[in-house]
Amino acid sequence: MSCNIILFITVLLFFYLHTQSFITRVYLGGINNATLFFLCFVVCWHHRAQCGKGEKLAGAGALVCVLASLIPSLLMSVRPEPALFQVSMTITQNLGCYFVLGALLSLFLFDQIEWHYRRSVRDELTGLYNRRYFNEQLDRLLVRGSGKGCLALFDIDHFKKVNDTFGHDAGDLAVQRVAREIQESLPSGALVARYGGEEFVCFLPESDEPLARHFLEHIRQKVSDLAVETPRGSVSVTTSIGLCQVLPGTPVAQAFKCADDALYQAKRAGRNTLVSSVTVSG
Ligand code: GH3
Ligand code: MG
Ligand code: MG
Repeated sequence: MSCNIILFITVLLFFYLHTQSFITRVYLGGINNATLFFLCFVVCWHHRAQCGKGEKLAGAGALVCVLASLIPSLLMSVRPEPALFQVSMTITQNLGCYFVLGALLSLFLFDQIEWHYRRSVRDELTGLYNRRYFNEQLDRLLVRGSGKGCLALFDIDHFKKVNDTFGHDAGDLAVQRVAREIQESLPSGALVARYGGEEFVCFLPESDEPLARHFLEHIRQKVSDLAVETPRGSVSVTTSIGLCQVLPGTPVAQAFKCADDALYQAKRAGRNTLVSSVTVSG
């Protein structure tokens, strides 16, 4: 882009200070337009896989460039006057530059917004949603959605011992692995998050207790079968799960209390267990 701007300024200076030749001006204008289109093409090509707002704007910028470049030639065919061609060429070049610049800027800004948004809703270690995002979404699902579903809390058992035995880095690997197992084992509509430390939470909208239990038992089994390879040896972990079926109208805090009570019972029952709590009514 900066090359194009330098070229554009050079061309303008050349127009007004040196050359009186009409044909040279046409060539210079053509070269400037060609580089502008080439830049547009390169940008669009680099972002061809994405289809966000920035890409759409860049596409629109490229289209405006192409259309604007036709104006001088169309004008020439109607009124073949060098002065008119010069003016229309300068205006369209400017227009093209502004649109491409604007499109590139918006592409950059949208990328930045996306990057910051992702950081604000995702947990860094596991890539799962974070607690704040989960709470907001759960609130939305319970208040504005049907309000029905199953809430489950997971807590890795005796995790302090894992850290003490294998080190914190190995513990991190185990947290990441358990997060992946939970994420991959739940149906696509499920909302999953790292609730903090070695605790995870999920909400299965519209799901009833038997269905949720089926998925969660599968996860509990898979986690207990895991052997997480770490530099200090193979780590095995288990997880306790507290499940609560939520009925429409249940406040978020009450749903959490219900799942937390169930988790507490699972711990007391010896860990590596799923306990399902009584249904909460609103
Ligand atoms: P319980 O079965 O009762 O849950 O025992 P616990 O040891 O898992 O529970 P406790 O709350 O006593 O300890 C949790 C430990 O998890 C302490 C903390 O250092 C560790 N932990 C929490 N988050 C992380 C993490 O991201 N990485 C690592 N390596 N350890 C973590
Ligand atoms: Mg814990
Ligand atoms: Mg624990």
